[in-house]
Amino acid sequence: MIERERIDKIIHLLRKHTAVMAEPAALAIVKTFGRDPFLILISCMLSLRTQDKVSLPASLRLFARAKTPQAMAELPLHTLEKLIYPVGFYKNKAKYIHLTCKKLLTQFAGIVPHTREELMSLPGVGRKTANLVLGEGFGIPAICVDTHVHRISNRLSIVATKTPEETEKALMKLLPEKYWIEYNKLLVMWGQNVCLPVSPLCSQCVLLPICPQMGVTRHR
Ligand code: SF4
Repeated sequence: MIERERIDKIIHLLRKHTAVMAEPAALAIVKTFGRDPFLILISCMLSLRTQDKVSLPASLRLFARAKTPQAMAELPLHTLEKLIYPVGFYKNKAKYIHLTCKKLLTQFAGIVPHTREELMSLPGVGRKTANLVLGEGFGIPAICVDTHVHRISNRLSIVATKTPEETEKALMKLLPEKYWIEYNKLLVMWGQNVCLPVSPLCSQCVLLPICPQMGVTRHR
């Protein structure tokens, strides 16, 4: 099977077998509130280094109190901290959310920008978050490479990379653009349910016949 066909097959199988799985936090936010780039941005900031089962309820608590940069900037910092607790690094995240809201109000007329450079100029916003907002918030093709995308792309031998940045560059060359936005969603769900970080469930994985299990030393 040539590589392009293998990638098509991987995407096809993932689409089919993730249909029953819970969607990643950012997409749950889209389902609840519509395609609002601001809410996607904030929920992504909250989800960094935090499991969805903790970050999603925190996003919902926060959005029940404030859904715009103006309203969020007006929340006292300690209230913001309390609302998002116990997400990882909640004090830093509360501070960055405040700063980001203020910058959006003063430099972007309260509107989330739609270029990677401008998004990454916001406090606490890195490439991963910027790419997710571009894709899910604006429908602009971008590959959001988080820990699941980096790990599974390497195990599947779609890429052979050491860092998420290298993975993004390699994927941009290999993946047809039509897959860029949904690739994150599919691999996050697969990574949370099947291709687990420490001991992946290879014996139950539909990708096993076309996966070289690169770097996998222990599996079930
Ligand atoms: S076969 Fe194993 S390593 Fe390959 S994608 Fe499936 S769970 Fe991951």
